[in-house]
Amino acid sequence: SKGKFPSNTHNETKHNAPNPSIQLVKRRDALLPGRKSLPIWPHAESIRSALRKNNVLVLTGETGSGKSTQVPQFLTSEPWCTKCIAITQPRRVAAISLARRVAEEMGSLMGNQSPAAKVGYSVRFDNASGPNTRVKFLTEGMLLQEMLRDANLEQYSAIVVDEVHERSVNVDLILGFLKELVARGMGKRKHPLKVVIMSATADVDALVNFFDQNADSNTGSSANSADNSAATEPVDSKSVSKCFVEGRQYPVKMTYLPNPTQDWVESALKLIFQIHYKEPLPGDILVFLTGQDTIESLEKLVNDYAEGMDKDVPKLLALPLFAALPQHAQQRIFEPTPNRTRKVILATNIAETSVTVPGVRFVIDCGKSKIKQFRNRLGLESLLVKPISKSAAIQRKGRAGREAPGQCYRLYTEEGYAEMEERTTPEILRCDLSHAILTMKARGIDDVLSFPFLDRPPREALEKALLQLLHLGALTDTGSITESGSRIAKLPLTPTLGRVLVEAVEQDCLGDAIDIVSALSVENIFLNLVTEERKEEAEEARRELFRREGDHMTLLVTVQQYAEEHADRKLWCQKHFVSHRAMQNVMNIRKQLHEQCKRLGLSVSEERPPPSDAHTKAILHCLLKGFISNTARLMPDSSYRTLMGNQTVSIHPSSVIFGRKTEGIVFTEFVFTGKAWARGVSAVQLDWITEVVESIM
Ligand code: ADP
Repeated sequence: SKGKFPSNTHNETKHNAPNPSIQLVKRRDALLPGRKSLPIWPHAESIRSALRKNNVLVLTGETGSGKSTQVPQFLTSEPWCTKCIAITQPRRVAAISLARRVAEEMGSLMGNQSPAAKVGYSVRFDNASGPNTRVKFLTEGMLLQEMLRDANLEQYSAIVVDEVHERSVNVDLILGFLKELVARGMGKRKHPLKVVIMSATADVDALVNFFDQNADSNTGSSANSADNSAATEPVDSKSVSKCFVEGRQYPVKMTYLPNPTQDWVESALKLIFQIHYKEPLPGDILVFLTGQDTIESLEKLVNDYAEGMDKDVPKLLALPLFAALPQHAQQRIFEPTPNRTRKVILATNIAETSVTVPGVRFVIDCGKSKIKQFRNRLGLESLLVKPISKSAAIQRKGRAGREAPGQCYRLYTEEGYAEMEERTTPEILRCDLSHAILTMKARGIDDVLSFPFLDRPPREALEKALLQLLHLGALTDTGSITESGSRIAKLPLTPTLGRVLVEAVEQDCLGDAIDIVSALSVENIFLNLVTEERKEEAEEARRELFRREGDHMTLLVTVQQYAEEHADRKLWCQKHFVSHRAMQNVMNIRKQLHEQCKRLGLSVSEERPPPSDAHTKAILHCLLKGFISNTARLMPDSSYRTLMGNQTVSIHPSSVIFGRKTEGIVFTEFVFTGKAWARGVSAVQLDWITEVVESIM
């Protein structure tokens, strides 16, 4: 900041502005001692020599030991490292915050700030890497997209696959592709591709065996220990090194509830204040909750109660942490706690292993998380609140003992813990696989059934996904990828949303379809209102945006009116009870999708046709092409029944057509809370549905 540095040089500007590079270097040097005290630091040399010896290294170490931030920096000066190092993350939040941290540690700007910057990141709809980026954090999805353009990952010297224990579908695909790449050997490369697999849990053997090409012919494990490797030995391209970084963990005292509870927001609230009144500072509290909704309600409660505290009691600072939170708000959890204040971080399972929050001594764990689950009976994927696994509960507890002895309060009973599953089922065994399979097909893998999966999904799930892709016109009936399929695979969207855009080209409404898809790609553009009074007020204010055709046309009108508002967009949002932050995201995504479509040769016509029934029908037809599995018809008893699964669904109360009866509906989201809800709903005629069904049969 201004005036921080003495103006002792002659070439400073007359405003005394500090030289940014001096600031960067000062910051870099200030961070070095902390880095040197991380548990991974003494392993730097053995990590380097392991990778000189073998091309694959499996590295395990406790969360916070320094894997994500330090490993790439250990490798940049290696002789084989002539290009960029990629580090993958399951979540964009983590990719961005790690890149920022590593840029500071390396004394570099971010890739989008200067062409000389050495550190960058790439997440969906936001690329901050430059021509000289040497360390690039990217989401798993982005690496997969890059693999479709550059099959051999020529631009990288090493791929570091981080957070493998999370076992997202994407990480499983990356592992399969990398196994094949490593086995293929050097190709046109001057140096072989190096691969580092990093995990916070210690089930190393499965990963070592997966990559170890000797394991197929040899009996037993032929993995080499990193410690007895010598740099002069020839590279053994077939073997795998392993390395274990022991963490620093202080004892954590455990408290269970005597009786199970359903109301963990209430229980967490009580505990937060109990800890705050009883325990001395410093010592921040980390609360694990299920999602944005519960986090926001607890945040409000904490703030309300904190207002009523006596003046002599230290302050409480509630900080939410979830994926959809804007960057600057996320960064606040890393800022030092102000004097006489206790931070309460309200987080989803992001804080389990992905993001390490400093200063935490107390953990409150609700024992639940929201997970994606494919509901076979319904043929639909949805988010469900489920008990976590023992291994996740142990990770959560561990967050309390990183810097000093701590305490963990579990909002469940000891019996409840005993009933939890040992570890979380990998996503690939419980999710819709159509995106994964389309990615494989686009990469030229014909026989997806023989893909090297770390855990093989059930045949039934693979076949369902193949059928879904056939319905989307992405595959032919013999299973090869179609031209639309290749286009869909290259769009950073689910196959269903991708299909909507590809169809919109045919129907000459791509611009409108992009507007709708952009709005569907953010959480919720309409503010959630708590009181009845505010709800009525909002309904009145939004009336001019609402369209009787349903939520999608309403989104379209909202995006277009916002885009046309040039005077004061913030005010416009306030007036219409629309989230300005969400709309800024929508506009960003919209811009990116326009660019992506242009790159794929899908043209958006400048002229938007005036609103007409025919045009509306064309737009809804595109939605039907993508979401034909999400259609339902009105039954004589006034319920809606899905056409493809014959399941009952209800229109969600948040829909503009809630309470209306219409012969058919198409919906873009399915939520299950006690009963099955269709969210994001449009009214359609039955013969429009039939038309689309016939075209795919
Ligand atoms: P691991 O990958 O083993 O979990 P990390 O490399 O992510 O460990 O973290 C090492 C240390 O760096 C931790 O103490 C963490 O708090 C700190 N750190 C990571 N990201 C940031 C950030 N964005 N801001 C400040 N500190 C950070």
